[in-house]
Amino acid sequence: MFSNLSLVALTTLITTPLLLVVVAVLLVLERKFPYRKGLPFFRDGLWVDLVWYTLFQSFLLKILIFDVIIFALDRWVGPVRWQLLAGWPVAAQVGFFVVTHDFYIYWFHRFQHSSAFFWRTHEAHHSGKHVDWLAGSRSHAVEIIINQTIEFAPIILLGANPVVVPIKAFIDAVWGMYIHANIDVKSGRLQYVINGPEMHLWHHADHEEVFYANFSTKFAVWDWLFGTAYRPANRKPERWGLPYAFPKDYFGQHVFSVARYDETALVQRSRWFRAYHGVRGRLLGWLTGKAPALRPLHGWPVPEVGSGTVAAQRPGGNFGEM
Ligand SMILES: [Zn+2]
Ligand SMILES: [Zn+2]
Repeated sequence: MFSNLSLVALTTLITTPLLLVVVAVLLVLERKFPYRKGLPFFRDGLWVDLVWYTLFQSFLLKILIFDVIIFALDRWVGPVRWQLLAGWPVAAQVGFFVVTHDFYIYWFHRFQHSSAFFWRTHEAHHSGKHVDWLAGSRSHAVEIIINQTIEFAPIILLGANPVVVPIKAFIDAVWGMYIHANIDVKSGRLQYVINGPEMHLWHHADHEEVFYANFSTKFAVWDWLFGTAYRPANRKPERWGLPYAFPKDYFGQHVFSVARYDETALVQRSRWFRAYHGVRGRLLGWLTGKAPALRPLHGWPVPEVGSGTVAAQRPGGNFGEM
């Protein structure tokens, strides 16, 4: 067990710097071949995605999912622990979990788009109007708890090599960043199998025709097989994100999934919320006052191109029924 654990630590030591290299490559490709021109690095919502979703939330949820939920499940299964995959080579184990979990996530994602209740655990992911390499990190805590428990518990419970966990997490991170990256990828026939920004960026568009399309994450083949693929030739989205107002604050976004409220009105009404909500703006104001070169940190609005299509009613819209 000890050697397995140290192997997990060693794998993480390799995958972490590798992940940073992938980030650097994606950033260069986003600048060189942008899908949507003019999208800045310091775009609207970068702070929320980076600090709150990527660092704060994933750190806390990793502890909850692995050290509480999966730990308890593992102890409960205990002596009858299934060793179904124990004899398989690591590569086969990784391949097995990548494909089976991706199949599951296609159906759960599709279900989230059609259930008014579960839409509330997914709308945050669609709330960003500036979609780029980091935008995929914006996922409601409940969505992450459900999906990652279903993803990682079988790896432990089916007796797979523990090293599969960091390898799978690395593949998830790379693929997740790639499909959201603001890169004008034209992968031809490969897009029938491997999913990329070409189809997933459309999934983030505020266009009626994609509200129930392009649910695939890693393998686009699910969309083609189950009739939900949308891949227009020579056309790009004109509007992005949700067709209704959505809070910009991390905690506000989670509250909004339970009780609908107007964040702008709350800022005007509540002195306390105004003070809390303005912390980042005041901090940046002070910082850029001292060093004007840091002004891009504020981010800036990217105009939407036009209003070609009519937004459809989404399940559980702004004040819709649960
Ligand atoms: Zn979606
Ligand atoms: Zn997405």
